[in-house]
Amino acid sequence: MRPALLNPLFASAQTLTGIGPRLILLLKKCLALPPGISEPRVIDVLWHMPTGVIDRRSQPQLTAAVPGTIVTLELRVLKHKPSPRGNTKAPYKVTCEDDTGRIDLVFFHAEHKFIERQLPEGEIRFVSGRIERYGEKLQMTHPDYIVSPEARDDMPLLEPVYPLTAGLSGKVALKAARQAVERVPELPEWQEPSWLEARYWPKFNEAVGRVHRPTDAQDVSMGALPWQRLAYDELLAGQLAFALVRRNLKTERGRRLTGDGKIRAKIADALPFSLTGSQKNALTEIADDLAAPHRMLRLLQGDVGSGKTVVALMTMAVAVEGGAQAALMAPTEVLARQHIETIAPLADAAGLRIALLTGREKGKARDAVISRLATGEIDILIGTHALFQSDVQFKDLAVAIIDEQHRFGVHQRMALQSKGSNGDTNVLVMTATPIPRTLLMTHYGDLDVSKLTEKPAGRKPVVTKAVPLELLERLIDRIRVQLAEGAQVYWVCPLIETSEVTDLAAAEERFAYLRQIFGDTVGLLHGGLSGKEKDETMAAFAAGHLKILVATTVIEVGVNVPNANIMVIEHAERFGLAQLHQLRGRVGRGTRESFCMLLFKAPLGETAEARLKMMEETEDGFRIAEKDLELRGGGEILGARQSGAPGFRIAEVPGRDALLEAARDDAELILQKDPNLVSERGQALRTLLYLFECDEAVRLFRAA
Ligand code: ADP
Ligand code: MG
Repeated sequence: MRPALLNPLFASAQTLTGIGPRLILLLKKCLALPPGISEPRVIDVLWHMPTGVIDRRSQPQLTAAVPGTIVTLELRVLKHKPSPRGNTKAPYKVTCEDDTGRIDLVFFHAEHKFIERQLPEGEIRFVSGRIERYGEKLQMTHPDYIVSPEARDDMPLLEPVYPLTAGLSGKVALKAARQAVERVPELPEWQEPSWLEARYWPKFNEAVGRVHRPTDAQDVSMGALPWQRLAYDELLAGQLAFALVRRNLKTERGRRLTGDGKIRAKIADALPFSLTGSQKNALTEIADDLAAPHRMLRLLQGDVGSGKTVVALMTMAVAVEGGAQAALMAPTEVLARQHIETIAPLADAAGLRIALLTGREKGKARDAVISRLATGEIDILIGTHALFQSDVQFKDLAVAIIDEQHRFGVHQRMALQSKGSNGDTNVLVMTATPIPRTLLMTHYGDLDVSKLTEKPAGRKPVVTKAVPLELLERLIDRIRVQLAEGAQVYWVCPLIETSEVTDLAAAEERFAYLRQIFGDTVGLLHGGLSGKEKDETMAAFAAGHLKILVATTVIEVGVNVPNANIMVIEHAERFGLAQLHQLRGRVGRGTRESFCMLLFKAPLGETAEARLKMMEETEDGFRIAEKDLELRGGGEILGARQSGAPGFRIAEVPGRDALLEAARDDAELILQKDPNLVSERGQALRTLLYLFECDEAVRLFRAA
């Protein structure tokens, strides 16, 4: 359980003075809450980091004040000059002075009572805001702060600025943050003292204090020492949690799946090609995992077209050789069907009994699959999310494979795992989105990784070109020539979110236009079609009856039609890099020279231009992923919010990658020296884990 010490931080933010039922809703809008948390807590306020600072430290006398700058003045209130009755346009002015001069404080549409209360004549007030020159006079319009000498400390001379939302003022956010800092209890130090000293990092309490109550303008910059320390705390908590999960997996009793290799040999014989070196390597790593006494949790990364399907089939074959079952789950219906079509002939040759289960299998057909699955008459089940339904019970599921991981969340990963009888199902996750190393470490630190780096032999480079929409007709002419030579074309129309035109309408319009030119060799595929219609259209394209397939993004992942050699992407400027790369991966699979035409609507924004340029320059999925990370940030690439992967609240500081590497090494070392975190530092580290809400990981201690 979370140490009681931390409870004040995990109380509702409504326990903070000034935050009531209305403001909590606004806070909810602008705070980044972890998945599953619906009401902001004190800790969420604490992690709501400032993005800048207003410096009010300049406290000049009036003669020395520089117009246009933010200053804090000590003034005597001289005289109120309310706006005349009936003239709401004229401002309310209050003349004040110090020993060197005079200034007017100016208020528009002000409530007179309020100003009278704030600025009693004859009294001293500290006033802060931007000073201006108005003709010969100095003035300050709507000062940010007006405080009496007794309340001076309420006005921050360095005022952190927070991301806000309409209705939530900076003052409220500041007040809440300051209270949150006060709620932080005295905590035991979890970092090595020598490590802190070498970096001049402050203690945890001091670090959060300096972020929200800066004493130096530097403190609110992300490179500053307090931020570095907090980022490191967060990274260390994450890496420690992953290390614990990994260790737990390795010590958990799993099943040994060895198999005699006979089925795999038959599959290999039936393949029209030999495996690439990286496919072989990956299979060796997987076979080793399966043969070991622990459970497998492995990520297979391979760019689009790198040949993951065969690896999946071989992996499943190991399970069947061992007398058990396997499942392969795809993110869409179309893909599940494609998988079964690819796999069926190979399975036949190897004597594997396979079946399909998607949302479309209903009634008797579905019942039959389910009962055969339960009795073990099916070796391999291929399907979609439908595999999760609770009445789907395997006789003995030993291997579960999830294709195209980025569509699935951590929770689904867990749900599939638990389909195995003893929770000892081996899991292989396959992704076509190359994930940069740092993201792997931060988000998939619990997985082992295999990579398919080589492309299968015979893969052709794809010539990529960004083309403005105005040149559409010229593009059509080129396509006409290509079609005459036997080419096939994917034509993707993107999602249009904001306009009334739906993506469907855009695709339909383009479809109609292309039909006029190319006749009934043009097909249309979109999400609104029934499953059967989709299949028929796909089949007609795969068989070459259709030459041009206009589609919304339903063809995004996995579809394999080797003869298709031209990919046209409309409004390419609206797609992310990873998505463009995925789409392009649909072509370049056959013998023809391949093209990817990125149609864009000028003018291009800076990011869109950088993306398209990158696409023209390289086909290296890992390079593209790194660039994507640079352009978009990690959370978005992984869809972290939706997937329930841990998001980062502080850790996106400059120099993060180096901190991450250090945190990873540190975590390993810590567990080597103190496997159960029982030493003094170990206990403190447990507190750290709770502080960053890695409760699940701490629970593993008891399970062990
Ligand atoms: P992805 O990794 O995108 O899922 P696929 O498994 O669909 O890739 O493979 C893409 C294409 O490459 C398929 O047509 C497949 O038959 C072919 N392929 C796979 N492995 C090899 C190989 N070693 N040599 C030649 N072609 C291969
Ligand atoms: Mg695939």
